[in-house]
Amino acid sequence: MNRNVRSLIDKLKTTHSLSVSEYEEILLNIDNENREYLKRLAREAREKHYGKAVFIRGLIEISNICKNDCYYCGIRAGNKNCERYRLSDREILECCEEGYSLGFRTFVMQGGEDFSFTDDRLCSLIKTVKEKYPDAAVTLSLGERTRESYKRLKDAGADRYLLRHETADREHYKKLHPESLSWDTRMECLRSLKDLGYQVGCGFMVGSPFQTVEMLARELKFIEEFEPHMCGIGPFIPHRETIFRDCPAGDVSLTLTLLSLIRLIVPKVLLPATTALGTASKGGREEGILAGANVVMPNLSPKSVRKKYMLYDNKMSDGDESAQAVESLKNRIREIGYEIVTARGDALK
Ligand code: SAH
Repeated sequence: MNRNVRSLIDKLKTTHSLSVSEYEEILLNIDNENREYLKRLAREAREKHYGKAVFIRGLIEISNICKNDCYYCGIRAGNKNCERYRLSDREILECCEEGYSLGFRTFVMQGGEDFSFTDDRLCSLIKTVKEKYPDAAVTLSLGERTRESYKRLKDAGADRYLLRHETADREHYKKLHPESLSWDTRMECLRSLKDLGYQVGCGFMVGSPFQTVEMLARELKFIEEFEPHMCGIGPFIPHRETIFRDCPAGDVSLTLTLLSLIRLIVPKVLLPATTALGTASKGGREEGILAGANVVMPNLSPKSVRKKYMLYDNKMSDGDESAQAVESLKNRIREIGYEIVTARGDALK
């Protein structure tokens, strides 16, 4: 067992902060014994704040139409072989209705940057959902919008916003996105969302093309400094209609280590065991929970569109990934000693 890594993990547990080179040291030299130790500390940290509860979010993929051309993403604008769809307000409300009866108390509306979802349209949709289900939270994940737009959506009742920063490195960002998108704008969006009082989620892909261990160390430093309420990380998985089709997928074990480190850095963070993690490895979602995650986001989209929201190859959407299978998910989570709860599951102060 690497003693230096062990003492850095112990230091992180008490200080919630390390230098970039210390994070790098852990990532480079962690061995199996320290990996298990780190997972145990991460479980203890989440249990201290959240007990055995695992929160569920119903994920409604409202549109796969997107004006952007992010190089890694299967629904990028340039993918001509993607069959496009956009849900009507009625379809979205039907998803919420079904989700509510299944026990979901958070609805996440995610989609490409589809400007048929104007502020007016979204505001009225959010208001309707909040009127019908006053005890449910609305989370948005609709990409970059103006501060004014974020403000209007917040005033209409949106509670949370997920906007992964994708990478904390400006130059790396340029290698993953076309020139029309900038890291500075992404960061500006995240700052606005925080300012406006949203519970905010950032996040990144593990093993995205050109990513180095040093970059991952700086990801951790970024998360330490930004202190997000939520943090979505999952392995990069190539999509065949992108220029990264031949790039290797991100490593599952590394993803688990990062989840645990993030739990120790921001102990109260709401941390999902993501669909990408479940897709990259059978049982990945359960492993994520055992590494300190406390959120799962089953798919609540209409069955007819699920296969069309293909961010990466083979993205799971049925079986235990489907909101309708929540009973089976409950059993699987119970088997590993945790409990799915029907609660909004807000970020703790
Ligand atoms: N348009 C929204 C939602 C994007 S999809 C936005 O900009 O926030 C949600 C997340 O899926 C992205 O933030 C990205 O991190 C992840 N994703 C996209 N393509 C992926 C891939 N090939 N492998 C793994 N994750 C991917």
